[in-house]
Amino acid sequence: MGVIAALAAILTPVYFSARERSRRASCLSSLRQIGLALRQYAQNHDDTYPPPAHATFVDENAPGGLTWPHLIAPYATASSMRPCPRREAPGRLATMHPLDTLGYALNKNLSTWQKVSSAGAETMEGRPEFAVRYSALTVTALDARVGIFAIGSPDLEAYIKTGRVEMTFADELYTEGNQGEGGKRHGGGANYAFADGHAAWMRHRQLRVARRGDGKTPGFGL
Ligand SMILES: [Zn+2]
Repeated sequence: MGVIAALAAILTPVYFSARERSRRASCLSSLRQIGLALRQYAQNHDDTYPPPAHATFVDENAPGGLTWPHLIAPYATASSMRPCPRREAPGRLATMHPLDTLGYALNKNLSTWQKVSSAGAETMEGRPEFAVRYSALTVTALDARVGIFAIGSPDLEAYIKTGRVEMTFADELYTEGNQGEGGKRHGGGANYAFADGHAAWMRHRQLRVARRGDGKTPGFGL
């Protein structure tokens, strides 16, 4: 029975309504453009990816920094930085800048996070492109719950307050919980941009969390 059930699962095609196909295509196109803008940003910054946010956060009263969508926006056309059509309503984050409610997160492994004070302040710096060993298999950006800006590694916890809203950085392993509704918002799967510039729809289980990529499985490890 187990084998039959597994086969059935493999052979069951994924059905999308015409509306969902269109939404998924729109999201995929947007993530592809975001992936290209990330590369363009790197080319203009010593081959280094942007950090999830551009600032050193000293405490909750410190001014907030710009998040990565703002940093890469100069390298994309305005119309290409579209929010995921299937992202959940921003809700309490509705006062946020539109670029902060796209419904996409950055692969947190593309940056280094360092705790700089006992109070928990951190600095974030983008990592160099050469750190990515398998560019066709390394996720750069992905569908994720609105309010999550970086996701993918089990490192530090950071809560950043801008004075207007609180932005939470998922800090745990890549899980459905961390990705939120984003992980299943398109027909049970989600869209992912990769370091080589392509983007693809995949199911959550097709990816792995790895501290280092294995060259075989798409994932977050560099
Ligand atoms: Zn999407």
